[in-house]
Amino acid sequence: MCHAFLSDARCYDLLFRIDQSIAEEAQAKGCHCGGVLHSARYPRKPRGVRRALNATYETRLSFCCAEDDCRRRCTPPSVRFLGRKVYLGVIIVLVTALHHGLTPKRRGQLIEMLEIAPQTLARWRRWWRETFVGSRCWRALRGRFVPPVAARELPSALLERVAGEDLPERLTQCLILIAPVTTRSG
Ligand SMILES: [Zn+2]
Repeated sequence: MCHAFLSDARCYDLLFRIDQSIAEEAQAKGCHCGGVLHSARYPRKPRGVRRALNATYETRLSFCCAEDDCRRRCTPPSVRFLGRKVYLGVIIVLVTALHHGLTPKRRGQLIEMLEIAPQTLARWRRWWRETFVGSRCWRALRGRFVPPVAARELPSALLERVAGEDLPERLTQCLILIAPVTTRSG
């Protein structure tokens, strides 16, 4: 099931469209200085699922102020790219969330398919426990859940609690909720 989901180009299209609408909104607001924002995308080479991805995944949407004396960067939140990590957010959420839910054999197969190094996986788990729980994004988010989501059970506890009829819908919801953490201010 996870395998099929991660190979499904439609899921990636949906996530791209969400990123696009977040970016359009940011661009419409313009720069803090009042200047117009021009597209200045960051190149990206996401790992693990390259065959399922089209050219929209070769860049992260970003802008640069057109005013000569400003030139400020504006990188909107993303449901696709989790900061500078080389794996997509959807993989990081899914693989770390399923850490407890899969048999060791199936988990091993998924990790092998995605070519994730053990130390990378350990780093992601640390990222949830240390970086994410300390973020403004999580502090704003955790109050929305009653009873609270246990920080030590992230991201699986979050994935279980968000609305959605199936795993792809819940994953998408999760990625939308944690998107603020993908920008510098998050
Ligand atoms: Zn500006």
